Amino acid sequence: MKRYSFKGGVHPPQNKNTAGLPVVDMPLPEKVYIPLSMHIGAPCEPLVKVGDSVFKGQIIGDVKSGLGAPVHATVSGKVEAIKVSTNAAGQNTGYIVIQNDFEERLSPDITPSDKAPEEYTIDDVVSAVRKAGIAGMGGATFPTYAKLQSAYGKIKYLIVNCAECEPYITVNHRLMLEHPERIVNGLMLLMKVFGLSRGYIAVEDNKLDAAEALESAIEDPDLIDVCVMETKYPQGDERQIIYALTGRELTSGHLPFEVKCLVLNAETVAAIYNAVIYGMPLIERYVTVDGDCVAEPKNLNVRLGTPISELIDYCGGLTSEPHKIICGGPMMGIAQWDINAPVIKGTSSVIVFSKNKRKRFSFNPSCIHCGRCVGHCPMHLMPNYLYAFAKDGQLDRCVEFDIMGCVECGSCSYDCPADVPIVQTIRAAKGKINEEQRARKAALNKTFVVPEKEDESKKEGRRVEH
Ligand code: SF4
Ligand code: SF4
Repeated sequence: MKRYSFKGGVHPPQNKNTAGLPVVDMPLPEKVYIPLSMHIGAPCEPLVKVGDSVFKGQIIGDVKSGLGAPVHATVSGKVEAIKVSTNAAGQNTGYIVIQNDFEERLSPDITPSDKAPEEYTIDDVVSAVRKAGIAGMGGATFPTYAKLQSAYGKIKYLIVNCAECEPYITVNHRLMLEHPERIVNGLMLLMKVFGLSRGYIAVEDNKLDAAEALESAIEDPDLIDVCVMETKYPQGDERQIIYALTGRELTSGHLPFEVKCLVLNAETVAAIYNAVIYGMPLIERYVTVDGDCVAEPKNLNVRLGTPISELIDYCGGLTSEPHKIICGGPMMGIAQWDINAPVIKGTSSVIVFSKNKRKRFSFNPSCIHCGRCVGHCPMHLMPNYLYAFAKDGQLDRCVEFDIMGCVECGSCSYDCPADVPIVQTIRAAKGKINEEQRARKAALNKTFVVPEKEDESKKEGRRVEH
């Protein structure tokens, strides 16, 4: 069987310890903490106040304008507080805290669609997906309605990303095994509204049982190709999937639709189907809980807003002192500041590592010019040069060497024999470059020329600072 792949990448130990464990519904929490921002774009404004009674699935926050996605009550109950607290990325965010009444009263706004599948239009899908608050569930959290909208009429390849290349995480694997029809139905629905006669599902070859489950759920094999990819990190990055399946390269600053592709995560596709056909908002998701500190690793179905400490408790608690708690995989996930941070739309896993699992980086590293990082970089960058320029504060040189094309996959740091903290340094430099660009833009917006009214002969104008 053909194995699709890309150039570069690494092979970290997979540690898919929970692949054989069916997803378990986690008991409902006493309280949920719903962040007003768990997507890329503007944060939501609260639409409820303290003391309000809310239904499960009710919209409780939405963005006033621009890119964003509404947030919903994930349990029925009473709004206990609206406050600011630290989110999963360590930033301050508004939260709506709901005391669960355990009555599971569903919002009367949630009604199944009465349309036949062939009657759906892109507008129906975009509007249902926006109302459901769906944002990329693979971790990117880009509002899905906007992704669909911008790709409409421009794509040839619609690809469901079931690669799940990050070590430890097995939620997509379980979804494919337990509910392959959700992915297949979601893909078929999207193919219909996009007017495509063929769809693609990309699965790594460490999940051949899942590929088989998907193939058995497909009624007409001429419509959907299940494409088996080499197990390699970061195969799940959409640029690598696009290259592997179509041979098209997506360079920095470009979007998949520019090469006629749309890539959606497996759980996102299932959530789209749920939203369009049943009117269900995104209020729960699958989460893998694993790591050498966790007593009983599990795959859980969890309401958004549940504190990650409760997931760990439900998995038997910790067996040793944790050194790091990561949401979203050991390669690209985010180390948590607060064990009570809640599960959000992009939380695919909670991994708890002891000190034994930490990767040591040198404080005074010395590159030995082995070139390994260059060979591993899936974006064909020169990570060693980017590191050197970033460390010296030569941001212009970083830009010249396309630092913004770095997808922060960490493949370079993972296999560096000199323990150089490459991706960490690159990430910090990218942050500084973005900051500088924002400041320059703000300065430009503040300074403009106003023509002198009082003396028409003087056309030069004067500069006004606000
Ligand atoms: S892998 Fe490490 S030591 Fe080798 S060239 Fe890259 S930065 Fe230098
Ligand atoms: S430079 Fe960026 S894209 Fe390339 S391997 Fe390192 S982290 Fe990945």
